[in-house]
Amino acid sequence: MRLILIGAPGVGKGTQGALLAESHGLARVATGDILREAVRQETELGREARAYMDEGELVPDELILELIAAELAEEADGFVLDGFPRNIQQAKGLDGILDDLGLDLECVVVLEAPDDVLVKRISGRRSCARCGAIYNAHFDPPTVAGVCDRCGAALVHREDDREEVVRNRLRVFRRETEPLIQYYHDSDLPVEVVDGDRPVDQVQATIRSALAPA
Ligand code: AMP
Repeated sequence: MRLILIGAPGVGKGTQGALLAESHGLARVATGDILREAVRQETELGREARAYMDEGELVPDELILELIAAELAEEADGFVLDGFPRNIQQAKGLDGILDDLGLDLECVVVLEAPDDVLVKRISGRRSCARCGAIYNAHFDPPTVAGVCDRCGAALVHREDDREEVVRNRLRVFRRETEPLIQYYHDSDLPVEVVDGDRPVDQVQATIRSALAPA
């Protein structure tokens, strides 16, 4: 199965994508995670991407498409794309990459939640820099504050989860990414819109039943 998860920052793409990847044996390809790792390792990509990420702006399409082409060539069996595509140019780029690989997308899942919920979720978000597990200081805290339950590493508050950056990320989402929903509606792909303002397991159950007939 090959699908795209679209949704604003904080809506739960990472959490839902990871659950789905695990249950369906898919690779989770999250451009944000790949970029953060590149920044941490100070690679050339990381150095180029960092300033955009710190401001909550999109990293240039050429860089993203190059990294996605390399990732997808390795994951032909099935993947869930989280955080990509982020604009129409990237969606067109993805169409070309998939054509070259002889692959099709099967579904687009759109996760929705109101802005005030998103801002609150993000302000409490803490993630594990080692294994990628995500917690929320308000709604889903780890057993020991600041420590990952899964792997014991320290949890971090993402630099771009500060409130002023979050507000810009939401503006960028509305302006650049939301038009993708229409783009995919206009294609032949099924687009499943899911209410993300519910407990994690309920959202996951809705996504799974939407995918079941596929
Ligand atoms: P995310 O973890 O998906 O919220 O992404 C964090 C940041 O990485 C974003 O605010 C962008 O600066 C950058 N980023 C992630 N994915 C993309 C993408 N597909 N295109 C451009 N920038 C991206």
